[in-house]
Amino acid sequence: MNPNKPSIHDDYTLTTVDPNWLQDRIKPRRHIALSPELCILCRACEDVCPWDCIYMLAPDIVRDDGEQEVTTLAQSSHALFVIDDNECVRCGICIDRCPTGALWYARVGETGAKG
Ligand code: SF4
Ligand code: SF4
Repeated sequence: MNPNKPSIHDDYTLTTVDPNWLQDRIKPRRHIALSPELCILCRACEDVCPWDCIYMLAPDIVRDDGEQEVTTLAQSSHALFVIDDNECVRCGICIDRCPTGALWYARVGETGAKG
């Protein structure tokens, strides 16, 4: 194992978010999105979030979820970046803190990198 890589949590239970549920509850209709190619896994966003709703998780936490594409993507990654959208207040502190500009506000359903 590369000693320079950060330790990753592996003790969480994840569930899939229903987009309709999220659409109804989001306020405002934006959420925090990640451009993974810019992320250097520094974990500054996880550290600075005042609501403790950012998690870096071990990829092998995804097992037998029934979606092969998701499983393949997860297992080919070093870490999974997860934000608890129920707790996130869209304060933007993580966006300001990110040293590489990897975090940004996105509209619901928007998946592409910021332009
Ligand atoms: S926007 Fe604020 S509450 Fe939401 S993940 Fe970022 S720092 Fe945490
Ligand atoms: S602060 Fe930015 S670069 Fe660092 S882990 Fe978070 S998203 Fe990645």
